[in-house]
Amino acid sequence: MSLSGLFVRKVIAPLWAIKEGTPYLRHLKALEGSKQRPVEEVQAEQLQRLRRLLVHAAAHTDFYRERLSSVMERPETATWEQFAQIPLLTKDDIRSNKERMVARTVPPDRLIPVKTSGSTGVSLDLFIDEDSAQWKRAVTITYDRWAGWDLGERVGAIWGNPDNRANWRMYLRNVLLTRYEYLDTLKMDEREMLRYHRILRRKPPVILFGHAHSLFLFARFIQQKGLPAITPRGIISTCMVLHDFERATIEKVFGCRVTNRYGCEEVSLIACECPEGNMHLNGDTLIVEFIRDGKPAKPGEAGAIVVTDLTNYGMPFIRYKVGDVGIPSDGTTCACGCTYPVMESLEGRVADYVVTPDGNYISGISLTENFAMHLPGVKQMQIVQEKIDFLVFRIVRGALFSERTVADIDRLAAERFGSRMAYEIEYVDSIQSERSGKYRFCISKLPNPFS
Ligand SMILES: [Zn+2]
Repeated sequence: MSLSGLFVRKVIAPLWAIKEGTPYLRHLKALEGSKQRPVEEVQAEQLQRLRRLLVHAAAHTDFYRERLSSVMERPETATWEQFAQIPLLTKDDIRSNKERMVARTVPPDRLIPVKTSGSTGVSLDLFIDEDSAQWKRAVTITYDRWAGWDLGERVGAIWGNPDNRANWRMYLRNVLLTRYEYLDTLKMDEREMLRYHRILRRKPPVILFGHAHSLFLFARFIQQKGLPAITPRGIISTCMVLHDFERATIEKVFGCRVTNRYGCEEVSLIACECPEGNMHLNGDTLIVEFIRDGKPAKPGEAGAIVVTDLTNYGMPFIRYKVGDVGIPSDGTTCACGCTYPVMESLEGRVADYVVTPDGNYISGISLTENFAMHLPGVKQMQIVQEKIDFLVFRIVRGALFSERTVADIDRLAAERFGSRMAYEIEYVDSIQSERSGKYRFCISKLPNPFS
């Protein structure tokens, strides 16, 4: 590690934490060895923490008092079976009950308002209490270390809406402590990417961090322009599905491993890839479940991702449906030493599934790889499911687009969706990413087993 990085970690970070009165460095110490504990010990500790949260939520919020009373009489002795009876918390529940979910015992100045970027088009307002935010900060650092980064080292962040220059305090904090260099994903044109490349050459980051697709775009830009190499120690891809072809390009261009990570603004980090390449669930602050048709999904079977945040007492999130689908693995141990369960794969959003008239569910991620990737004439594509037997293919034509492409689309559509699925092609000039910087390949307007 560089001398300046060490100085930030050993001197500036502790001083800053004292000045802010933030305990995250203490939490960081408490988390040492947490991921290597025996599974039984982890589960027993989680149950204790869960009971504490249930007692608090039932006593201090109207929403959970009602919700829990139908399932259990005494939250202090709740069992895993009773926990599994608690109705899932949906985004609609939160929208209609925000105030009733906030704990009366937590002072308003300890509540941090969060507005999610709204991956499904509608954003969500919620609160995270200050203590929870400090735990999340510490936990994230423990997972950052899996990618080769540690506190105090330079970060290149490809991210939407950077706020580090919002005021001089934030600016100073960034220069001295967090050391982020941003490329705004909402302004990723050639000029900005060239400027960013120049900065990273001058001040090489230890880690590159960003949305999978934005990292991919930046890597491809460097490759196509033949720009001199940027060689971080590691790369963290987060917030959205990382496709194999994106990972391959990013790893080739930057010459290092990509650590894939999954999380959301509501509960922060949900899963992170370890050095062995397995996506471990975050057992430090969360209980994570996979639910299909109201029951736990079997290993290898897709299920809606449901999380309980063990730290947010300000506005408890108990059995919250994130809106994404994942596949739990069979529970075999990982060679990295971490005992937290592994997620076999992240399948993307609930609303990204296409349902065929034959009753098959095809995830957006598999369609990207088995449909769009086979069409060289298509520059960009989006599939919108309007009805059970009707799709709209929105297509941006590339230089190789021809009558042959149209025939290929017809053949692939019959193969993937069956002969009963009708479709229409809509040619467009561009397909915009959403406000969050995410790009959606599939949008379905129909319900599925995860919804
Ligand atoms: Zn592992």
